[in-house]
Formats: sequence, C-alpha cells, structure tokens
Amino acid sequence: MKIRKIFVAAAVAALFAGSAAAAPTTVEGTGVGKHGDVTVAVTFDGGKITDIKIVKEQENKVLAKKVYTDLKNDVVATNSADLDAISGATFTSKGFLDAVKDAAKKAGVTLSKADKKALKKAAKTLPATSSYDVVVIGAGGAGFSAAIEAKNAGASVVLLEKMPAVGGNSLISGAEMNAARNWVQPKLGITDDSPELHAEDTFKGGDGKGDMKVINVMTQNALDAALWCRDYLGVRFEDDNLFFFGGHSRKRALIPVGHTGTEFIAKFQAKADELGIPVITNMKAEELIKDKDGRVVGVKATMHGEDYTFNAKGGVVLATGGFGANPQMVKKYNPKIDERFKTTDAPGTTGEALYMAERAGAELVNMGYIQTYPICDPISGVIELIADARFDGAIMLNQEGKRFVEELDRRDVLSEAILKQTGGYCWVLWNDKIGAVSNTVKEHPTEYDAFTKQGIMKTCGDLKCVADFTKIPQAQLESTVKRVSSMAGKGNDKDFHHRAGLVDMSQGKYYVIKAVPSVHHTMGGVRINEKAQALTKDGAVIPGLWAAGEVTGVTHGTNRLGGNAYTDIIVFGRIAGKAAAEAAKH
Ligand SMILES: Cc1cc2nc3c(=O)[nH]c(=O)nc-3n(C[C@H](O)[C@H](O)[C@H](O)COP(=O)(O)OP(=O)(O)OC[C@H]3O[C@@H](n4cnc5c(N)ncnc54)[C@H](O)[C@@H]3O)c2cc1C
Repeated sequence: MKIRKIFVAAAVAALFAGSAAAAPTTVEGTGVGKHGDVTVAVTFDGGKITDIKIVKEQENKVLAKKVYTDLKNDVVATNSADLDAISGATFTSKGFLDAVKDAAKKAGVTLSKADKKALKKAAKTLPATSSYDVVVIGAGGAGFSAAIEAKNAGASVVLLEKMPAVGGNSLISGAEMNAARNWVQPKLGITDDSPELHAEDTFKGGDGKGDMKVINVMTQNALDAALWCRDYLGVRFEDDNLFFFGGHSRKRALIPVGHTGTEFIAKFQAKADELGIPVITNMKAEELIKDKDGRVVGVKATMHGEDYTFNAKGGVVLATGGFGANPQMVKKYNPKIDERFKTTDAPGTTGEALYMAERAGAELVNMGYIQTYPICDPISGVIELIADARFDGAIMLNQEGKRFVEELDRRDVLSEAILKQTGGYCWVLWNDKIGAVSNTVKEHPTEYDAFTKQGIMKTCGDLKCVADFTKIPQAQLESTVKRVSSMAGKGNDKDFHHRAGLVDMSQGKYYVIKAVPSVHHTMGGVRINEKAQALTKDGAVIPGLWAAGEVTGVTHGTNRLGGNAYTDIIVFGRIAGKAAAEAAKH
C-alpha cells in the first residue's frame, strides 16, 4: 500500500485571497535557519505562490527534508507563510518561512493568514486500520535496522514515527560505533583487540550491572553490524581514524564521515525507500494490542488526534529510544538530576512508550541509571561535538586554571568532577597540534560559528587571549599548559595518568570552550534477553514483542561507554527485525 499525504493545493489555495501582483515573477528571499542563511526563489502569479525553489542552505539534511517538502507544500497550498514550524526542525522552518516572507515583501505580494482547519481537511487521511507482518515503532537507528532486516526476511513492514522527521537521537548523535577487530585498527597498530575485551570493558564500565549474555551478543556481532552499515547501507566511515572513548581499553570506535548520525540516517532512509518500506511520520504509538493468549498483535496509534490501528501478524518491534528529554521522568527515576540539567537529546526522546511497554507486561529495569554527558553547551544543553578534540589531547580546566580529572575518564566520573568545580562548569582547551589530528573545528564549522557567536568559545593566538576570555588567572593557565607540555607523550602524565598521552600545547593557535554536563543517555528500559525479546517481571517472554536500542535497559549497566549505543541499536535492531519477520511465517 502506498501511503501519501495529498494536498488539494489548487482547491485550498482558492480559499485564500492574496493581493494581486503583475505578471508571473520569481523573487529570491532569505531567512536565518539553524546553520546560517536559507535562500529561496519564490514564483508568484496573480498574487499567489505557485512554486518555491531552495537556492541555498546548509541545514541538517534529514531534519530539513520535511521543511522543504511538507511545509513547502503547505505554504503553496495556503498561500501563507504564517504556518506552524515542523517540530524538531523549528529553526530551519523559521528560516524557510522567513525567506518566503522576505521574497513576498520584495515582490509586493501580501500573503494570506493560513486557515489551518481548511489545510487539515484538505489532507487525505490514512486507512484507519491496516495490517502488516511486522510493525516497528520509532524511526531511529534501531527502528530502521529492524524494519530493513524484517523486510529483507520477506515480511511486509511499516515503520511508525511520532515526530514529523525521522532520526531521533540517532540523527543528532556523533554516531561513533564500537567494533573490535574493525578494519581501521590494524592501520593504527592495534592488533590485540577482541569482542571479549570489548565485552569486559562494557561490563566493567557499567559497574557490573549489565547483562553479560546480552553484552556478549552485542560485542560478538559488532563487526558484522558495522560491515552491514558500510557495505549494505553505504555508510561512509573515516578510513584512518578511530575514537578512544573513556572506559575502553582499546581504541575501537569507527567514525562516520561528518562525525554525526546524519550519515547513517540518510542511508537508512534511502534503503527504506529503495525497499518500499512505508515510514509514517507524525504517527504516535499509544497502546500495544494483545490477543486473548497474551501475544502482542498490533499497535493503536494516533496522528493529529485521529485513531489508527496497525495489526502485526508476526509482532511489534519497540525502538522508541530513551527518556533523556523528559525532565519529569528523569527526576522521577533519579531525583539528583533535577531542573538544573538541560539535555543533549532529540525532542522525541520522552519515553512514554516505556509506560506503554509496562502496561503490556514488560519489566522496566535500571531506570535510575541516567548518564550526563560532561561537555555540553551551558546555554542550550547540546553536546559540544567540537570539543571531541578531548579524545586527541584537549585538556579540561577549572576556573582556577587547573586540571582536575583525567580527560578520558568515564562520563559519569567527568560529570561529577565538573559539578564539583567552581560554578559547576569547566573550560576545554586545545591547540592546533591537537586540532590537526581530531579535525573537530573543520568537521563542525556551524558549531564553531554558533558557539563563537554565543560567546562561549574563542580562538586565540596566545594564552593571554585565553586568560582574558576565560578570566582564568594567566599565570596559573601558563603554568598548567607548561606542565602539560612537559608531560606530553603516552605514559608521562604524572598528575592524572591520561591514557592516550598528553600533547605539547606550548604553541597556539588555541581553542577554548566553556562546558557543563547535560542529560544524555538513559541506560534503563525494557528488560530484554539476548534475542531482543521483551521480558516480564518473572523473566517470561512476552510473545510478539521485541525491543531494541535505547528503549531497552540491560546492556550498559550504570553507565554507557561512548560508541556502544550505536553498536547496540544496530545489532539488536537487526536481531529483532529478523525474529519478528520469522514469527510472521508461522
Ligand atoms: C548528541 C548525541 C551524541 C551521541 N553520540 C553517540 C556516539 O557517538 N556513539 C554512540 O554509540 N552513541 C551516541 N549517542 C547515543 C545514541 O545516539 C542513541 O542512544 C541511539 O542513537 C538511540 O537510538 P534508538 O534507535 O534506540 O533511538 P532514537 O534514535 O532516539 O529513535 C527513537 C525514535 O522513536 C520515536 N518515538 C518515541 N516514542 C514514540 C512513539 N510512541 N511512537 C512513535 N515513535 C516514537 C522518537 O521520536 C525517535 O525518533 C549520542 C546521543 C546524542 C543525543
């Protein structure tokens, strides 16, 4: 079945009046999006918008897609730029709508006020009930992996996403992905890694609270998952560099080109399109349907207040992510993480689907284990990917200009340490020598501009400039940098035992940014077994229900190690999708 939202553009446009302009004309207009200017060319005919072309923009490709399709259609249909933003792409929407308004102003055209009721009426709705072999809930990395594998196993599949755009946390993620014995390691001289070591690190990193059976499945299948992403989906990875996240005994995190999940989600979406998997956005799963034997056989969902039922012959895969963007839920399960904390997470990461799973009999475990990411923007809470220079030697300083922790320690350790410093923040400092390796300034130019404009980041030729900007006493700053430089090289850090080795920072340019911890990852969730089946309190399998990704709660224990979530979502998303497809055959 082909699912589309069709606007009767001409009919709706006729409902609205626009002041007349002369002959058809095309005029350019500009607005400011999330990552700079959005320029559009709008064609007006008889005072009505007949076409909009995007001329120039540098927004996130995946998030902006709905703006340049659905929102654009709505603007043309209503002859109005007075429309609601696409949720999750608020700034891009605003930049686009402002660009249309700018063009209209220049063309001397008065746009209409949108009649949102008429717009809704003009949208054709989906069938109230539809049936598939497999229903997957949540279009992040776990959900896409499940849907694609289910489809390739011969099932009919639908993927439901409550937000207007796909991707969830997987999209905004750094998307570094751990796999022992990956193809980059030998190039860096790493020949002694193994899935067993990776499993040990994961278990230890989570203070022994993870489920070793599940962890082993993750680490044993990690390389195959990475190869599937590279060779089947076409995800491009950097070929000569890996991340060394805290808590790992070996450098093993593959880095996607661009250092974000956009590379993955764009490839996931393209593969889903190629396979003909319907991905229905704005569709929120509300309740799991069980038959008289207790098997999960479908999902009740809503879109814009309308009810829909999706029957699932084989079963349902829950891939709805975590609850880091739901402050009430975070505080409920971990009262120490209160209103002071912002979040790094995507807006859809609100966790109500966990309660849906609980109502269907699933046990929720480890819910109080909530990870804060240590290096985030004090204003918005978003992760400072640019400060990933830390993995190549950037140092963390307190307001007094002193190092206070090993910069590659676990995230929970770093977060605790930062919160104990004056003001509860730190400064991350690196120089060009480090920048040349990690390339983070080059990889994240829009972050660089945004943080610099916000006034939390500065590029400096010398340490005096760093001291002036940060208000760190210059003498102490110079003394710390001198000591760090004198201890450069692996094994030389007498103060904090930097596991990768400090770097000589005696020469500029310097980059410095202010950072605070922010809610990042919820380790708790649905209890699953090593086959990704959801379990009850008694450890019984709930037939017809699988769960994968951040919605699950047994892999990471108290603390998820960097790069392990991407491995987890793809390994278990694939397992769940295949199993649900198999179940549909019986
Ligand atoms: C900024 C950032 C950087 C990160 N960097 C890394 C990294 O480098 N390496 C790493 O391993 N991990 C990283 N992580 C963590 C990792 O990205 C996530 O844990 C992982 O992507 C979660 O994937 P998922 O598929 O389980 O959930 P998500 O990708 O969050 O997808 C879940 C989807 O389900 C949807 N949904 C929720 N409820 C419903 C409902 N009721 N009905 C329908 N849809 C619903 C959501 O809107 C969302 O789109 C990072 C996370 C963030 C936020």
